[in-house]
Amino acid sequence: MFEVYALKYGERDTTACQFFYREASHEPVTLHYFVWLILGGPHPVLVDVGAPASDASARGLRGYVSPAAMVERLGIQPADIPLALVSHLHWDHWAGHASFPAAEFWIQAAEVAFWTGPAARYGVYQHLVTASALGELVTLSYGGRVRLLDGEREVLPGLRVHRVGGHTAGLQIVSAETARGRVVLTSDASHFYRNVERRQPVQIITSLPEMLAAFDTIDALAGPGGLVVAGHDPEVARRFAVVEPGVVRIA
Ligand SMILES: [Zn+2]
Repeated sequence: MFEVYALKYGERDTTACQFFYREASHEPVTLHYFVWLILGGPHPVLVDVGAPASDASARGLRGYVSPAAMVERLGIQPADIPLALVSHLHWDHWAGHASFPAAEFWIQAAEVAFWTGPAARYGVYQHLVTASALGELVTLSYGGRVRLLDGEREVLPGLRVHRVGGHTAGLQIVSAETARGRVVLTSDASHFYRNVERRQPVQIITSLPEMLAAFDTIDALAGPGGLVVAGHDPEVARRFAVVEPGVVRIA
């Protein structure tokens, strides 16, 4: 049985019309930025690596605390994490990899192919990633620190990744069996609960049909009353137990 924590490393304000698909409302929306830590197995497993201070300031995050410092609050040294599951390669989920120097990074092959392929020429995609961090991914790969996955995969007994795509070409989500039932870490398959609960996509898309199917996958994995953890939603701190500011115990 695993224990799952959401660790907030910053936040940023935007508006609904800038974020949700074909949304007219200008109502303010606050994004929280997280990494997730899974304990209780033979070793800690991190889900996503967040972003370094340079990206946080360049992108206007407020209240930034490094993901590594957040991990340390749970008594885990970042250098002692041997495995990080990377949901996708957007800057806020991948650019912080250097803070976890012993981790092997598990990423869907389709995700790497997309961001190292022809899409890189287009501005609409360029602003979503930190190019230097993608370059470092290739270096890490040649150093034996990247495992490329193709679809669903068991990570440890009771811990799985599931490729859903939609928001990005190879987006993967994570399910973990806990004492409270199965937890589903959606990452950006559902930034907010509003996405999955109202079937309302976001504007950042590689495949709209895949994004909609991902909502079905989240619901199917979680089951009735399931423990869904949205990827950027301040509501996470209300639906689950806040241990201390920025640290939410999911299960
Ligand atoms: Zn994100």
